[in-house]
Amino acid sequence: MIKDMPVFKSDKEAAEFWDKTDATPYMEGGEIGEFIWEPVEDRCNYCSSKMEEIVRDIDFLKGRITFHKIKKYHCPNCGKEKLAKEFREEIPLITKELVEIALQV
Ligand SMILES: [Zn+2]
Repeated sequence: MIKDMPVFKSDKEAAEFWDKTDATPYMEGGEIGEFIWEPVEDRCNYCSSKMEEIVRDIDFLKGRITFHKIKKYHCPNCGKEKLAKEFREEIPLITKELVEIALQV
């Protein structure tokens, strides 16, 4: 019987699990099953540490476009940063508005 894939909180957690785990019970026909990873919003995707919320202005196109007061997370352990989900979800809307502006030309 094939075991269900565990859910990991980070790449590091997954790597540590697979380093010490026989993958055979998770495989079917020599293929490993679907890898499941659900990132936690305020946890570092790299080292699993709890991240600090920060607010920053973010420049795009060499400063020609600046988004103000964007919520991000900063990892005090490894220094990685990631955008908060609320801004990541706005990116398709921002893209749509830019395309609409471009089409008015
Ligand atoms: Zn980290």
